Amino acid sequence: AHLERIEAVDGGIHAFLHLDAEGALAAAEAADRAIADGGPVSPLAGVPVAVKDNLTTTDMPTTCGSRILSGWRPPYDATVVKRLRAAGLVPLGKTNLDEFAMGSSTENSAFGPTRNPWDTTRIPGGSGGGSSASVAAGESPLALGSDTGGSIRQPGAVTGTVGVKPTYGTVSRYGLVAFSSSLDQVGPCARSVLDAALLHEVVGGHDPCDQTSVDAPLPPVVEAALAGARGDLAGVRVGVVAEFSGEGYQPGVLAAFTDAVRTLGELGAEVVEVSCPAFSYALPAYYLIAPSEASSNLARFDAMRYGLRVGDDGEHAADEVMSLTREAGFGAEVKRRIMIGTHALSAGSYDALYGKAQKARTLIVRDFTAAFETCDVLVSPTTPTTAFPLGERTDDPLAMYLADLCTIPSNLAGNAALSVPCGLSADDGLPVGLQVMAPALADDRAYRVAAAYE
Ligand code: GLN
Repeated sequence: AHLERIEAVDGGIHAFLHLDAEGALAAAEAADRAIADGGPVSPLAGVPVAVKDNLTTTDMPTTCGSRILSGWRPPYDATVVKRLRAAGLVPLGKTNLDEFAMGSSTENSAFGPTRNPWDTTRIPGGSGGGSSASVAAGESPLALGSDTGGSIRQPGAVTGTVGVKPTYGTVSRYGLVAFSSSLDQVGPCARSVLDAALLHEVVGGHDPCDQTSVDAPLPPVVEAALAGARGDLAGVRVGVVAEFSGEGYQPGVLAAFTDAVRTLGELGAEVVEVSCPAFSYALPAYYLIAPSEASSNLARFDAMRYGLRVGDDGEHAADEVMSLTREAGFGAEVKRRIMIGTHALSAGSYDALYGKAQKARTLIVRDFTAAFETCDVLVSPTTPTTAFPLGERTDDPLAMYLADLCTIPSNLAGNAALSVPCGLSADDGLPVGLQVMAPALADDRAYRVAAAYE
């Protein structure tokens, strides 16, 4: 049924870069057999899932939305993909993304944008617009994304779906093509909080192949989603982040958010306002730290190891082949990030730029720590605006970067955060997201509150 749905609607959405109908049918049949045999199967056996195309798969291409990986086939599955397969889920294909997950609209994909199923003249968010749009359009009930600065939560918010960034280190990054290694985290996209929790439990947990993997039990997210669904938030303290409102926020977004906060109160939560003054440094700090790490991570695309190779004709030296390949293979935003990052890490600028950003990061961690001394969770709108029209911000990177204003602090601090739909904006009838943030390794708190609200 999902393959038929993709056939019917994906021409207008372009959520998928690659579809593996044959592989999906074979996996579905294998799951059916396992269920018929009566053996123990995972609760998600036989359920389709879409996979963001920066997660490696041996049986499908992995492009990262970039020309530089053309023709490359990864020799191994990402740990999260391995776990999907082991649990009997059915990978349908690979979803579109901003090149190397750099963007907020999926317009930076080398293979054309994805469109928002709510209004195909608008962006589906990014970088994981393909994953969230596939869920919003009914093409897949579940999807995996990656969230470095908001790329699961922001697309979730603008497509009216659930998106979760788990605590850093609790879901393996092995086989996630690195963008900014201290921020990247894989997580679920789903139609409901419980669905997200079920997928989260399949992919999460310690992985010895990821050196930043946390060797601790995964927070009990399914149990929390089930408990939350009873709709009782008595004894839960919810902090509304004062800094995330006002100028730059659409009135319809703020109104939907205010309604959501009122609902949390009606469910029994105690709602207080908290101030996190260092959050205003999050965006500039992120746009130094993330490009710095990216400039280093993307150095591996040297024309020798992966995919594209331009100018290898006996006329060019190796360093020329490298620069011709990178010139042709990377898009404009990726080049911008490599240049910013290289500059921020250079000897003359390191202290003033990268070092300063790391100090701001510490202040943000301290703000969270202080806020979580009095609050169980923090809430904010997930994004300042609803889905904007395609093309509106493509020539204005700074306007594009604003889409992640509210999501970036949780990446910098490494804590858990999710976005759950909170109604439609009165301005334009488009979906609005409620962000719920929880301390590191307390992902279950965010699930409980979001499930109660939903
Ligand atoms: N929009 C942010 C960026 O462009 C975040 C991307 C992400 O989370 N992968 O870097």
